Amino acid sequence: MLIVKKFGGTSVANKERIFNVAKRCIEDYQKGHQIVVVLSAMGKQTDVLLQMAEDINPKASKRELDMLLTTGEQTSVALMAMAMDSLGVPAVSLNAFQVAMHTTADYGNARLKKIDVQRIRFELGNRRIVVITGFQGISKFDDFTTLGRGGSDTTAVALAAALHADACEIYTDVDGVFTADPRIVSTARKLDEITYDEMLELASLGAGVLHNRSVEMAKKYGVQLVVRSSLNTSEGTVVKEESKMEKMLVSGVATDKNVVQFAVEGLENKPGVAFKLFQHLANHMVNVDMILQSVEHGGTQDISFTVTEDMEEVAMETLERHSQTSLKCEKVTVTKDVAKVSVVGAGMMSNPGVAAKMFEALYDAGINIRQISTSEIRVTVLIDEKFTEDAAQAVHEAFSLAK
Ligand code: ADP
Ligand code: ASP
Ligand code: MG
Repeated sequence: MLIVKKFGGTSVANKERIFNVAKRCIEDYQKGHQIVVVLSAMGKQTDVLLQMAEDINPKASKRELDMLLTTGEQTSVALMAMAMDSLGVPAVSLNAFQVAMHTTADYGNARLKKIDVQRIRFELGNRRIVVITGFQGISKFDDFTTLGRGGSDTTAVALAAALHADACEIYTDVDGVFTADPRIVSTARKLDEITYDEMLELASLGAGVLHNRSVEMAKKYGVQLVVRSSLNTSEGTVVKEESKMEKMLVSGVATDKNVVQFAVEGLENKPGVAFKLFQHLANHMVNVDMILQSVEHGGTQDISFTVTEDMEEVAMETLERHSQTSLKCEKVTVTKDVAKVSVVGAGMMSNPGVAAKMFEALYDAGINIRQISTSEIRVTVLIDEKFTEDAAQAVHEAFSLAK
């Protein structure tokens, strides 16, 4: 079998953990399997590097940031290959250039386009464990790129797809995918299985256990994933197309504090206003999430929407630039201390009442809802950030998700 194993930062945070991972990989290697290992930077090294850049130049270019950040993963793969070698097993570390993992040139948020597999196949053919840097790629300008925070999961899934791997295992610091972040909701329960669609919603809505693009890619190429702990041997969670279990009404709760809310007030109530507003934002690469348009009052209307925190400045500049010309609005305000809380479940497609139940739980907990959005398999509310944990607990309880 060819197995791709990905280990996150906590799993390779120090010497002891590196040897723990090396031994786990060697166990499977000695059974005769071909092993490809994908690693993140050690511990919080990516944050440390970002802080170093901030100290030198808060406006550093994204190209230079990627050049810096990719050193984190390069350190961990070299140390891992050394650890395996010291245990008597041949291993070779490779970075994105050596493999040739081609991406778009969107520094800081690049997308994988194509992976060359010859070098990996050659090394596997020589019975080496191949240890590959997660999170990084190369652009057509021969520069390093990175795939966005948490992107090593995507590297692993992409490699599994390109190599037609028999298994793709994502090892992390929790036992699998839970009904909520176990660090926020202590009664959260581990799921044995979850569908790609549900996992994609959860990951996109803040469940950082998997990078959302990794789930997108797994679904596209039919790569079955197992999310499990690097620190014990419990079974983990299988992420796949169809769950054989009865569809749960709600399979999980996700929270996301990385969001700000904009309100554009006093817009003219005529065709084309929303188009112009969101066109200006799109032209500046601002991704808009929840949108709410008010009913007309006194001849005008308001539109609110959310964006991620890093987009606040660009969004504000864009709106201010156009507020007196093409948009003709009275006022633009931004509220920073907000968060999204979502429930996700394939079962809600055929069961009414999920939204009502969620709103009731929030009402009982005395939490006000600022904005709502839904899809076929999710309900999201925007609330004050200080209530995030209470809201997650209350909703988790209302749907009887606790263990
Ligand atoms: P890694 O470094 O291994 O990639 P991450 O920190 O990126 O680890 O992801 C694991 C973390 O995701 C867990 O420690 C947990 O706090 C968080 N998390 C958020 N939502 C969930 C969830 N639904 N199930 C499990 N973990 C979750
Ligand atoms: N090291 C990168 C990060 O911290 C990528 C990853 O861990 O997946 O975001
Ligand atoms: Mg991660």
